[in-house]
Amino acid sequence: MSKKIAVVAIGGNSLIKDKTHQTVRDQYIAAKETCDHVVSMIKDGWEIAIGHGNGPQVGFILRRSELAAHELHEVPLDACGADTQGAIGYALQQNLYNEFRLYGINKSAVTVVTQVEVAADDPAFKNPTKPIGSFMDEAEAKRRQEKEGWSVVEDAGRGWRRVVASPMPIRIVEEASIKHLIEAGFVVICTGGGGIPVVADKEGMLQGVAAVIDKDYAAALLANGIGANMFIISTAVEKVALNYGKPNQTWLDHMTLAQAKAYLAEGCHFAKGSMAPKIKAVINFLEGGGEEALITNPENIEQALVGKTGTRITQA
Ligand code: ADP
Ligand code: MG
Repeated sequence: MSKKIAVVAIGGNSLIKDKTHQTVRDQYIAAKETCDHVVSMIKDGWEIAIGHGNGPQVGFILRRSELAAHELHEVPLDACGADTQGAIGYALQQNLYNEFRLYGINKSAVTVVTQVEVAADDPAFKNPTKPIGSFMDEAEAKRRQEKEGWSVVEDAGRGWRRVVASPMPIRIVEEASIKHLIEAGFVVICTGGGGIPVVADKEGMLQGVAAVIDKDYAAALLANGIGANMFIISTAVEKVALNYGKPNQTWLDHMTLAQAKAYLAEGCHFAKGSMAPKIKAVINFLEGGGEEALITNPENIEQALVGKTGTRITQA
């Protein structure tokens, strides 16, 4: 049985268009657009796993939790991850269900709440850098630091914020289940928000940790684990550029693995918190045996798959 398997990592822009479209209903409508493109890939014979971001959604939960703290328990970060995987998974599942019904496609979509193991001694835990939740004043920040062991930083005069580690994913705990589901023909929504970060103790017992895993790294690891042929990063740009945002910016149609590594090493092309991790994720996928990756925006996925746009990254 040779199936064409793709992992599609969808970015924040696939769920939240802008500041005035953030409600649950708005996110559902935005998700539909990406689902249209996923469905057209399915019509072309692809089996698909979908990964997604959850940054803003976790931010909303933390804010609610904070506002309600006088009455209700707060929600720990790992549980926020699980909550958002469920809620975003639901939006994608229902959109896909309705589209499959509309087009008479005999498929179903299922969401797997996904734990992703990180190393307890990952160097990222020594240097937490990922800001999480609302701004606080100094007194509150210091109180949280003392009472709850939070790492807090002062953010360029805007106030204090909690920061958490962004460790590398080393294992997708539910990988075997996801693989079975894909092989059985389900569309699988998984590793949402990069997965719920967990660490294993000496006996191999898992426990959630307050950290954030990059969703593109997790999706790349998933893609290798389930033997995906194609890894698609669907984000806010049609193509990747060299010298992004500079006068000599050039859009790329294609890069080889070796070129991607060289450009990344040059340090001036891909912004640190946004495009650089995507390129790194693609490199990981290709070095892990993947054949081909694409970076484009949702509306251009079909065109990119037939080589008309997007940035394609291949072994050679
Ligand atoms: P996502 O939510 O999909 O992860 P990000 O905002 O993290 O999206 O990353 C995508 C963004 O990266 C693009 O919208 C673009 O602004 C930015 N970017 C940085 N460097 C580049 C580059 N070299 N080429 C294209 N886009 C880039
Ligand atoms: Mg991003």
